Amino acid sequence: LSSRASNILGALDIPNSYEIPGVYDGRWKGSGETLESVCPTTGEVLARVRSATPDELREALEKSKDAHIILRKVPAPIRGEILRQIREALAAKSDVLGALVSLEMGKIKTEGVGEVQEFVDICDYAVGLSRMMNGRVVASERPGHTILEVPNPLGVVGVLTAFNFPVAVYGWNFSLSFAAGNANVWKPSPSTPLCSIAVTKIIAQVLEKNGIPGAASALVSGGKDVGEALVGSPDIPLVSFTGSEAVGRVVGKAVQSRFGKTILELGGNNASIVMPDADLSMAVPAVFFGAVGTAGQRCTSTRRLYLHRDIASRFLDALQKLYALLRVGDPLVEGTLLGPLHTRAAVGTYAEAVRQLREHGARILTGGQIYEQVELRQGNFVQPTIAIPKHVDPADAIWSTETFAPILNVAIFDELEQAIAWNNGVPQGLSSSLWTQNMRNIGKWIGPEGSDTGIVNVGTSGAEIGAAFGGNKSTGWGRESGGDAWKQYVRWSACTINFSDAAPLAQGVDFST
Ligand code: NAD
Repeated sequence: LSSRASNILGALDIPNSYEIPGVYDGRWKGSGETLESVCPTTGEVLARVRSATPDELREALEKSKDAHIILRKVPAPIRGEILRQIREALAAKSDVLGALVSLEMGKIKTEGVGEVQEFVDICDYAVGLSRMMNGRVVASERPGHTILEVPNPLGVVGVLTAFNFPVAVYGWNFSLSFAAGNANVWKPSPSTPLCSIAVTKIIAQVLEKNGIPGAASALVSGGKDVGEALVGSPDIPLVSFTGSEAVGRVVGKAVQSRFGKTILELGGNNASIVMPDADLSMAVPAVFFGAVGTAGQRCTSTRRLYLHRDIASRFLDALQKLYALLRVGDPLVEGTLLGPLHTRAAVGTYAEAVRQLREHGARILTGGQIYEQVELRQGNFVQPTIAIPKHVDPADAIWSTETFAPILNVAIFDELEQAIAWNNGVPQGLSSSLWTQNMRNIGKWIGPEGSDTGIVNVGTSGAEIGAAFGGNKSTGWGRESGGDAWKQYVRWSACTINFSDAAPLAQGVDFST
């Protein structure tokens, strides 16, 4: 192992052994299939991790059920206090954990640290929430009666996550779910096992200190088989799944067929629309980050750019200048803006998407190649690409498919209505942004005739943890993080209590003999 990798793993208490146990349910184990963690920058094998066997998964689920029985009796504000301690423990390791994200996933270090910060922020949010997960008192139509709407924990929540946010997505789910009193079983992406082991170790230490069983935050490493077994388990009332539309479709149906609940956070195919009155000094850098940040591997990456004819050439000139300044290379080196794609397979997907664009007559303004420099050849580096496809048909695969790589397709419009129709014309509905200073455009954009995505921005991009995060249509309709997202992690009971000395039926029904 390189000394840099070994320092990062050492600082996070990850053993430098040949095979690392990837299952935790209060005890570390793992005797299933071996997963390889491969550094996308250098191709170095960082570790081999042992995944869960079916028996180990069953055992983890049993332990998590037991943990829930203890956790549900702990008052919510005390659960909040434990989350506060987890927040502190994560914050103390944020730099090195961010470095591990960068090493294993491939995003640049500042984004890796930012991802840990998201977990810290959502813990803060959940600490407050632990004193505010309020039910309701409802007026009854019957004298001497009161109706309460009461939230109670669900039990064990299954959290399946994608490779591109190997820390934050578990954080969004775990923090709210734990505050609500659930135990959690995490099945991370098989290609980022080390990030999940590091996070689980940090959480486990805090749980242990507070006398809470470790299986309140269990880890079951593995691939498709472990995922399928978890999703199919009747012991898991709620499955929160983050990943591709293709797998989400299978997971959604499997959970529905046993009448479980799902939160689905699936692929995005996000557009930015730039009007002639936009402040280009803000819009150009925002689109640059949206399209190139995380090498185009954010669910919210900008993949479609609709430019008003009046500013199109000025915008594209300015954008290409930024592309030309891009520093490509090792994501752990300060100043790098573009790291590698996560896997070799993703490089193939990128190359095929560019080939399709060329075959269909698109003009490639910049990029379109795999980097061939010696120092980049070990890693999965591809050139960020701006393309102007020949046709603008949202139903066409070029426009309607989420390609998880830094490819930005551009089209030119004359009327906002046209751009909104293009924005809404694809299957996905995660995020979108409009660049304008005109009040009427904004009103249209955020209203019923506007964008149909879950995140609808004006003059900015990205999302914060305070609002509910998620998308519509084939993005899965799920909501996580802020807003009312916590309400999905509880079961709601409508409790009518009769304090009177009579027991009248509702709706005035008379059933007397
Ligand atoms: P993926 O769908 O390949 O894998 C996601 C998870 O599903 C992994 O843990 C995987 O092991 C598991 N899995 C695979 N087959 C399964 C099965 N049959 N049953 C159960 N689990 C199974 O996704 P990925 O390539 O890791 O991540 C990229 C995708 O995730 C992109 O589409 C991206 O947009 C999406 N994503 C969405 C959001 C969001 O909030 N909407 C956030 C991050 C990523």
